[in-house]
Amino acid sequence: MIFKGHSIKKIEITNMRVYNIVNTSENTCACDSWLDHWKKFSRQSASYCSVNGCYERPEVGGHVQKTGNFDKNWYIVPLCKGCNAKNGAYLDVNDSIKFVSAKVDETCGRA
Ligand SMILES: [Zn+2]
Ligand SMILES: [Zn+2]
Repeated sequence: MIFKGHSIKKIEITNMRVYNIVNTSENTCACDSWLDHWKKFSRQSASYCSVNGCYERPEVGGHVQKTGNFDKNWYIVPLCKGCNAKNGAYLDVNDSIKFVSAKVDETCGRA
């Protein structure tokens, strides 16, 4: 018998590295929660936390910044409580998740 070695199936996961912003509790919006804010403006629904490899339920809308470009705006993505608690951490999120602006004047606070 010839040992052919492992067949490696490479799964292409496209992800985006984000920074989990610290001290965002003072940033509030008109929605019931930041998770509702994300649902309302993304028109998506999430069954899992946005972090790749995490299959916890999304319980909160976490504040993140994109990395690797000049966009320093704050965005909301659905996260589980465990991932959201990793303040100051870099998280790899699935890029099929829509990033919703955390700027209230561009979203729910728009007059
Ligand atoms: Zn809102
Ligand atoms: Zn998670």
